[in-house]
Amino acid sequence: MSPPILPGSTLGVLGSGQLGRMLALSARAMGYRVHTFSPEKASPTGQVADLEIAAAYDDLEAVSDFARGVDVVTFEFENVSAAAAAAAAEHGPVRPAGKVLHTTQNRLREKDFLSSAGFPLPPYAAVRSLEDLREALGRIGCPAVLKTAGFGYDGKGQVRIHHPGDASSAWEALTGQEAVLEAFVDFEREVSVVAARGLHGDYEAFEVVDNQHRNHILDVSVAPSSLSPEIKGRAVEISRGILEALDVVGVLCVELFVTRGGDLLVNEVAPRPHNSGHLTVDACRTSQFEQQLRAVCGLPLGSPDQLAPAAMANLLGDLWSTGEPHWRAALALPGVHLHLYGKKEPRPGRKMGHLTALAASSREAEELVCRARDLLQQSD
Ligand code: AMP
Repeated sequence: MSPPILPGSTLGVLGSGQLGRMLALSARAMGYRVHTFSPEKASPTGQVADLEIAAAYDDLEAVSDFARGVDVVTFEFENVSAAAAAAAAEHGPVRPAGKVLHTTQNRLREKDFLSSAGFPLPPYAAVRSLEDLREALGRIGCPAVLKTAGFGYDGKGQVRIHHPGDASSAWEALTGQEAVLEAFVDFEREVSVVAARGLHGDYEAFEVVDNQHRNHILDVSVAPSSLSPEIKGRAVEISRGILEALDVVGVLCVELFVTRGGDLLVNEVAPRPHNSGHLTVDACRTSQFEQQLRAVCGLPLGSPDQLAPAAMANLLGDLWSTGEPHWRAALALPGVHLHLYGKKEPRPGRKMGHLTALAASSREAEELVCRARDLLQQSD
C-alpha cells in the first residue's frame, strides 16, 4: 500500500492556470512545496509556486526531470498528452492516472466510456466526415450541436445545427476535425457535482451546484442547488459511479443537464477541480483544492460540508474594457470575496478572477454576487 505523501513533500502540477494557482495556495497553506510545469512563464500558478518549469508538454525529457523533482504529480489542465503522463509515471505516482486523462480529454472517448458503463447521456454520434454528419443528423434530428472531439472547452469548437441543410457549413466551420454530434437538450437547468475519491476508494461530494452559462462560458454558480433532494441524490449517485468507473484518485466534476421531465443527462466530466466548485473556497469546511491535495497525497478526505449558501460570478476580461474595475464598491458589500488569478492581459472572454458571496439563502447569495459584479463597472 502506498504511504501517504505528507506535508513538507513536493506536489507537482502539470498546467499553470488559475486551478493550479488555487491548488498551490492550499498546498502551501498545508506546508507542501509546489512545482508547476507548463509552456508559460510567470503563470498564475508559477507566481505562487516554489518552482516554475517552462517547457512544452511534449518535451518528455523535461517532463521526466520535473517528475523526478516531486513526490506526486497531478494536473490542473487535462489536455496533457498520454505520453507526458506516462513519462511522469515512470518516476512516481501520477494522480489521477494518465488513463483518466486519456478518456476525458476526447469527447468521443469520454461519451463511449460513459455510455458503455450505463450512464445517461444525450443521444450522440461520432462524425468523421460530411457523410457521417448527414447520416447522424438523420438519426438524431435537429436542433443538434456539433462539437470537436478533442481540445474543446468553454464552448470553443461548437456549432449549433438548426436545419439538415446546414450540415456542410457546420462541418467546414469545424475544419473537418473528428467531431461528435449531440442532440440539443432543451434543459430546465444545468448542474454540476464536484466530488473527490481518495486512494482507498473513499468518496465525498460537495453540494450540487446550479450553473448558468453565457456565450457557452460559465457565468454564475449557486449552491446548494434548489433542485429537489431526490434529483440531487441521483446526481450524486451518478458522480460516485463515474469516479468509481474511471478509478479516479483526485477531484472530478460532472456537468449535467436536468431535463424538463426531471431526468439527468451527463454533458461532460473534468477530472480536476472545476470553475463551478470555486465557491467551496469561501463556503465549505474543505475547499475543492484542499480536497484534491488530500486525495492525491493519500490523506483522509476533508468534510465537504457547506457552512453557508454561496454564489460565484466569473470576472471575464471584458470587465476591463473601460478601465480597472471598481473593486472598492464590490468589496464594500459584506459577504463578498474577491479572487484574482494574476493574469496580466484582460482579453475578452478570458477568465481573470471571480467573486464569491455568502448569504442566508442561495437566492440571496446569487443576488448579492450579481450586484457586486455590477458595481465593478460603476465609476467613482
Ligand atoms: P460544453 O463545452 O460541451 O460543456 O458546452 C458548453 C455549454 O453549451 C453547456 O454548458 C451548455 O450550456 C451548452 N450546450 C452544450 N451542449 C449542449 C447540448 N447538447 N444541448 C444544449 N446545450 C448545450
